[in-house]
Amino acid sequence: MSGKYKRYELPVRKVSIFEVGPRDGLQNEPELISTDDKIALTDMLTDAGCTRVEVTSFVHPKWVPQMADAEKVLAGIEKKPGVLYNALIPNMRGLERAIACGLDHVVTIMSASQSHNRKNLNMSVEASLKELENVISRARSAGVKVRSYIGTAYGCPMEGAVDPHRVLEIALALEHFGSYEISLGDTTGMAHPRSAFEVGSLVKGNLKDAALAAHFHRADGIEFANVLASLEAGIDIIDSAAGGLGGCPYAPGAKGNIATETLVDMLHRLGIRTGIDSEKIQSAGRFAKSLSAYYRDEAGHE
Ligand code: MG
Repeated sequence: MSGKYKRYELPVRKVSIFEVGPRDGLQNEPELISTDDKIALTDMLTDAGCTRVEVTSFVHPKWVPQMADAEKVLAGIEKKPGVLYNALIPNMRGLERAIACGLDHVVTIMSASQSHNRKNLNMSVEASLKELENVISRARSAGVKVRSYIGTAYGCPMEGAVDPHRVLEIALALEHFGSYEISLGDTTGMAHPRSAFEVGSLVKGNLKDAALAAHFHRADGIEFANVLASLEAGIDIIDSAAGGLGGCPYAPGAKGNIATETLVDMLHRLGIRTGIDSEKIQSAGRFAKSLSAYYRDEAGHE
């Protein structure tokens, strides 16, 4: 018996994973995690083959006490050649701390919707863009490369739908300021495969030089369908966190990130290269969960 065998072809053969576990994954943990454990997690991730890691955040410790040891974590990690170590910076002050640490890759943040930007950053979208223009300019003059998140890119928990053209407008402004990569954030797990494909395609098709990434959160499995739709849109950079950490699983609208180890597993099964070792990333995922008050029960006991 013979039948026509149709291959499932994706426009992407290789995916670059931007690992956010040590920052986005751990920042909302209710119990303080030791600096040594944060360093160990970062080192496990780079040992597994992660070449870009968001290690910490230079946010005021009053707002995010978990990240108060940013300088110590950065000083303690093993600096591996070929790995780009990143830190989130909320503002100019954060950038200056990153520069003082000798960091050469930072990540900025803002939201596409007014309500969420005001809630998160206490300013309008326009004011954030103005501030980021200055921050990115200062970063560039100090030789620091900037990646920029656009939160609520696929929907806002307060406003609902977000106009994809608004997202594009912001992405183009950030590219113009000098960001080398834009990451579209599904801040509260509202994306679905159609919005992931449509917003992703629109921004991907209109950026001139900047690269484009997608950043999804846990949504009962829909996050993996969103990754697939993003790959179909030609996006080849996906953000994820070891163990699927992040947010608070018990607070509505604050969910964890897509789990790196499951993402790597899916991509490898699809024949897509990631450069990440499957077994080592599984171990890093288990270690990440063991640090988390929310996910410890899922880590299992070995
Ligand atoms: Mg996240």
